[in-house]
Amino acid sequence: MPVLRCHESGCERSISVSVTPGRNPVAEMFDMCVDYRACPRCGFAWCEAHWPEGCPGCEASAQAPAASHALAIATGHWGGGEDVVASVVLGTAEGS
Ligand SMILES: [Zn+2]
Ligand SMILES: [Zn+2]
Repeated sequence: MPVLRCHESGCERSISVSVTPGRNPVAEMFDMCVDYRACPRCGFAWCEAHWPEGCPGCEASAQAPAASHALAIATGHWGGGEDVVASVVLGTAEGS
C-alpha cells in the first residue's frame, strides 16, 4: 500500500493508494486520506480537502483513486516521486 503526501504545500495529510478498491482499514486507523485525486501525468496527489479543478502543473483533470496509481508507484513509474513517503506492506505487522 503506497502512501503519498498531499501535494498542497503545508498539508501534511497522508494519502493511502490501494490496489484494492474500497475502504482500507489500515488507512482509516491512521486517519489517511483514501478518497484522493491524482494527476496521471505529473503523479501529484491531493487529499479530499485540496482537490484541484485541474492539475496546476499540466492542467490535466485530476483522476479519482485507481489501481493503476498503486501499480505505477510500485513499478517506479509514478511521476511525483518526491511525494511518495512510504510503501506499507499489509499483513506482515502481526504474528511473531
Ligand atoms: Zn499534472
Ligand atoms: Zn491536503
